[in-house]
Amino acid sequence: MSASGSTSWSSAGGSAPRTVAEHAKAVASLLVATASEDVPLSEASGRVLARDLTSVVALPPFDNSAMDGYAVRAAEVAGASEASPVTLPVGADIPAGRTDVPTLEPGTAHRIMTGAPIPHGADAIVPVERTDAGTETVTISAAADAGAHVRHSGEDTAAGQVLLTAGTVLAAPQIGLAAACGSATLAVRRRPHVLVLSTGSELVAPGTPLEHGQIYESNGTMLAVAVREAGATAELLSFVPDDVDRFRAVLAEKAVAGVDLVLTSGGVSAGAYEVVKDALTGNGVEFGKVAMQPGGPQGAGRLRLDGAGVEDGVAVATLPGNPVSSLVSFEVFVRPALRAAMGHPSPERPVVSVRLDGALGSPAGRRQFRRGVLDARAGTVAEIGTAASHLIGALARADCLIDIPAEVERVEDGEPVDVWLLDA
Ligand code: AMP
Ligand code: MG
Repeated sequence: MSASGSTSWSSAGGSAPRTVAEHAKAVASLLVATASEDVPLSEASGRVLARDLTSVVALPPFDNSAMDGYAVRAAEVAGASEASPVTLPVGADIPAGRTDVPTLEPGTAHRIMTGAPIPHGADAIVPVERTDAGTETVTISAAADAGAHVRHSGEDTAAGQVLLTAGTVLAAPQIGLAAACGSATLAVRRRPHVLVLSTGSELVAPGTPLEHGQIYESNGTMLAVAVREAGATAELLSFVPDDVDRFRAVLAEKAVAGVDLVLTSGGVSAGAYEVVKDALTGNGVEFGKVAMQPGGPQGAGRLRLDGAGVEDGVAVATLPGNPVSSLVSFEVFVRPALRAAMGHPSPERPVVSVRLDGALGSPAGRRQFRRGVLDARAGTVAEIGTAASHLIGALARADCLIDIPAEVERVEDGEPVDVWLLDA
């Protein structure tokens, strides 16, 4: 209980609250940029490309037909029409995938399918719909310009061209392009690994009976999911009671090399039994207030653990226990830090300005993140629930956070507000 009730942002020179931006910077600075690893294309979705991807092949790799039809010399069908069709003997059949394509002899046509190589000597494709579809001879009733329905080698992508630049977030089209160019794997930024640990003697695991005075543990489960949704990996540890020795013992066992961040919830505010604050104060983690609501009490730093094999300590961010405070703190401080560490080009949630539906009061000097429901078509947002930070029901129905600057004390109905899009 020793340090409870005191504030200790040493960098702020005392107990002055940090701004949201200051604490966000402090948390982000705990995480180092992750290295590159090669993953199969099937595992590349959502990852950030670590190196420019250069193609070793051209796309298309060879001149090929854009239509099912007949490969011809354009000059030989120049006069063809419905009224005066041209009939040519069919020299060969060229399905897609044929690799030994015979030359087109003058005065003949080859039957050819979409994606099959253009035979040497041919310079145009007549679509099958403009012919009698013959297999011995073909009667062609339309002229074709030179180059008609021919897809040229390299017209999409040249060999040696940079296809995707480092920092690209990989989704279906980018991964499809990598496959089209023959890459079986991609170099992506490693996912940070996060330990999630909840504290509180009142906590009980969901699925078991509750006694009066107990609640179900929800932050750990929620934060582990949020970590994974942010693109990192999470190990959810069993929650611990408000017992400093038990808490320290878990960290000593689990916070070892390979852990990029320990994320705790609960035990950081101004009461007694603030287990996280009591256990970590003086060991490299600083606690104090951030001028925001919810999520005022915060802590962060590099925890020194004897014998953990981690020279400069393990990065720790300690989030408050109220579920809304916990998840909002994650959104504001931890998610952007994890994504920045993975080289994400836009670590932050997208922000849009819309009109507030209903007026809101906000305490002076604290930046507020209220839970909102956006009406994108109307360009409005309405608050759901209240400012109270235990209302996880309202949190679950919200799709955005309404960001009210610290100096604003009231937003009137219809005034513009910034909202962070959580579903995007
Ligand atoms: P604390 O920050 O530990 O003082 O907790 C603040 C409030 O959040 C209390 O009402 C706790 O019961 C609640 N709380 C703390 N941790 C959790 C958790 N892991 N899951 C659900 N509620 C929690
Ligand atoms: Mg607690």
